[in-house]
Amino acid sequence: MTRRRSSYRSLRSLQGDNAVCRACAEAGYPLESLPVLEGRPGQRAYLLGQAPGVVEGEERRPWRGRAGRTLRRWLSLDEDAFYAAFYCASITRCYPGRHPSGRGDRTPTLREQELCAFWREWELRLLRPRLIVPVGGLAIRRLLGIDSLGECIGKSYTLDEAIVVPLPHPSGASSWPNDPVNRARLGKAAHHVRRELELIAGPP
Ligand code: SF4
Repeated sequence: MTRRRSSYRSLRSLQGDNAVCRACAEAGYPLESLPVLEGRPGQRAYLLGQAPGVVEGEERRPWRGRAGRTLRRWLSLDEDAFYAAFYCASITRCYPGRHPSGRGDRTPTLREQELCAFWREWELRLLRPRLIVPVGGLAIRRLLGIDSLGECIGKSYTLDEAIVVPLPHPSGASSWPNDPVNRARLGKAAHHVRRELELIAGPP
């Protein structure tokens, strides 16, 4: 049963309620996993994807499949460094299942995105990250209101106290990074993310 308090004082209690959330299923949407998120208090970098995939849903850990490996390669981070650096969340947190056409995963509906925004808003309030990395068109649109990857990849923005550096989605289904101009934009963005992570980590 979904429980949402009027106020949260700790990230752990927020995560506890998020972990058992069934709001979308209760609203009639087909979900194929329980919520997937991973992070801990004190992390200052917040990674926001679209929704978990089938592998992530099964393991209940974000960025476990091929897209996660591509993302880590873009950022030159191994698994340990990646999960140590980023609080990993997504626009919706349950695997939405395959698209009815059979091509790729179903995009969460606007209503599901709105139901799940509750968790993100509280996370950002409690975590107060210095760096936010929205990954993929949907996360960028929800966070920054920008529709075009070409417009924003390679640039940075500010949101409250955080620097926002968008990245394209690392899914093999996207051909966007194959274009040489876009590849250069991606390289610039990945470099910026690494530099911000170094600043967050502080001197060795
Ligand atoms: S997608 Fe988000 S709001 Fe919907 S059931 Fe999962 S955790 Fe809850």
